[in-house]
Amino acid sequence: MKRVAAGKPPPRATRRKRGRAHAKLVRDLERLARLRPGGAPDRPLDVDSPAQVEVIATTSPCPLCEGTLRLVEHAADTLDGVRLRLARLVCTACGTARTRYFRLATPLPH
Ligand SMILES: [Zn+2]
Repeated sequence: MKRVAAGKPPPRATRRKRGRAHAKLVRDLERLARLRPGGAPDRPLDVDSPAQVEVIATTSPCPLCEGTLRLVEHAADTLDGVRLRLARLVCTACGTARTRYFRLATPLPH
């Protein structure tokens, strides 16, 4: 960390610094959101039925601003042999697009 010379920084530098701090916060929140269940394809959230996908996806608030997420698309995909459901969402408050990943529980053969 470089030491700043004494004295008040000009207003423009202050604004720029605040912008950087916000960008870092957003990055941190995004990283945390990806680490949570359902935040990444290798970390899907287990559901019993496809109907649960939309309910869970739209009732979890936006990790960046706590806004309401609106479902844009409910897609099915298979990644590495795992059947996944993808909920593509967009935050109604901050407009950030987000995808949450779900895995359908497969009944085990008896
Ligand atoms: Zn948001």
